[in-house]
Amino acid sequence: MKMSQYDLVIKNGTVVIPLVGLRKIDLGIVGEKIAALSETIDAKEAARVIDATGKYVFPGAVDSHFHIGIFRPMDEDAMSESRSAAWGGVTTIGSYFRTGKNYLNKSGPYTEIFPEVLEKSKHSFYTDYVYHITIMTPDQMKEIDMIVEKFGVSTFKYYMFYKMLDLTGAAGSDQYLMINTSYDLGFLFNYMKEVAKANEKYKDYGRISLSVHCENPEIINAFTQYMRQHETGNALKDYSDARPAFQEKLAIKETEILAAQANCPVNLLHLSSMDAIEAGKEAAKNNPGLNILLESTLHHLGLSNDMKYGRHGKVNPPIRSREDVEALWQAIMKGDVKTVVSDHACSSKKIKEGDLWTSLAGFGGTELMFPLLLTDGHRKRGISLQKIAEITSYYPAVYHELYPKKGTIAIGSDADLAIIDLDKEKEVSVESMHSAQDFTPFEGFRYQGWPIYTILRGKVIFDNDKVVGEPGYGRFIKRPVRYHYRNEYVNK
Ligand SMILES: [Zn+2]
Repeated sequence: MKMSQYDLVIKNGTVVIPLVGLRKIDLGIVGEKIAALSETIDAKEAARVIDATGKYVFPGAVDSHFHIGIFRPMDEDAMSESRSAAWGGVTTIGSYFRTGKNYLNKSGPYTEIFPEVLEKSKHSFYTDYVYHITIMTPDQMKEIDMIVEKFGVSTFKYYMFYKMLDLTGAAGSDQYLMINTSYDLGFLFNYMKEVAKANEKYKDYGRISLSVHCENPEIINAFTQYMRQHETGNALKDYSDARPAFQEKLAIKETEILAAQANCPVNLLHLSSMDAIEAGKEAAKNNPGLNILLESTLHHLGLSNDMKYGRHGKVNPPIRSREDVEALWQAIMKGDVKTVVSDHACSSKKIKEGDLWTSLAGFGGTELMFPLLLTDGHRKRGISLQKIAEITSYYPAVYHELYPKKGTIAIGSDADLAIIDLDKEKEVSVESMHSAQDFTPFEGFRYQGWPIYTILRGKVIFDNDKVVGEPGYGRFIKRPVRYHYRNEYVNK
């Protein structure tokens, strides 16, 4: 019997290639890799053929901001939420991990704790995944080089509003963070210097960076006290006013000055407002050597605070005004914001119990990655499909050092693909979504443009409204990939 040349061939689709454009070509896949891009590949050469006539073949999304295991057991959460990511055309998840309350509810050295994270992840993911690590103590700071070298983690995180202030009685307190040293700008500066040192050491292979949640706790504290006395009844507007946009700008300015001084590459996470975008653009312009990334999220692009979701839409930074939303879209169109992420944190009504001020922030939305961007971005605002591929896959992969293993459609890259039906329309509801979350702030929204196949390293994991992958097929990817897989990726 003649062996097929390809394990899988995608025929007759329009392939969306970052930095290149749209091409009517066939794709040939051998094992886990893309092996051919050709005007036409004979179906007889393939063990399996997917006919993508009239469909668009995107590189699988790299959802680089996720919180697996924040409110639920890590293995369970990875299983349900990476499964919902597969429905959304996401093939790689970048999840944040820190010690302290939530997640594993413990503190200590990452030498001991990170192997536990990997162990709980090992048999649970439908998608590939990476972790970003938050340094919480001076002792953990000494582990940075080991974390890059041994664990293959190239991105770190700092939360500016975790200074030791008791904002809500929960987040921000020393008990919550399980630390007994201050977590202030002095800590951040030392942290940046350590990340900068690692960046210098690995610079031939990739960028080692610090991702920063930019919000200023002192201003939040003052404004929250005021807003608690002056509630208007519109929960999301009140919450936004309690964390006004200028405090994001202030935090970004602080980050910029410290990063420039420490020579530390930074990523400005989930920018929510016009003020934040302006400050972020300036930081990037003033420090071209740091290659500063501006990130935005699906919910800051898709929701606005004049809508009546109530406290279930509470998230940090808050959902903003329509003007702010438009400013974010503009920043994507102009190329200032380079990545869009879900910041997925699977929550529940139970977890969100309490009033606006005491309930927990955050919710999930990874499954809406393509539908939201294709509807609100492509259809409504004319953002090109090529750009959608760049903000969902190429730039997240580049900035998080997964490129060229992930983030494009090229010979030798992992065969991670999302085949999209641009005409498919569906209404969002808890029932029609696949996360374990029992509510969604996107309830009732109609989106057009949904994945019909998701392919991870050559294997179909989602096939026309059915997840056909298995937990445990998803693999932990060490970064920078050009360091940890350097036999595979020749360094230039
Ligand atoms: Zn987050």
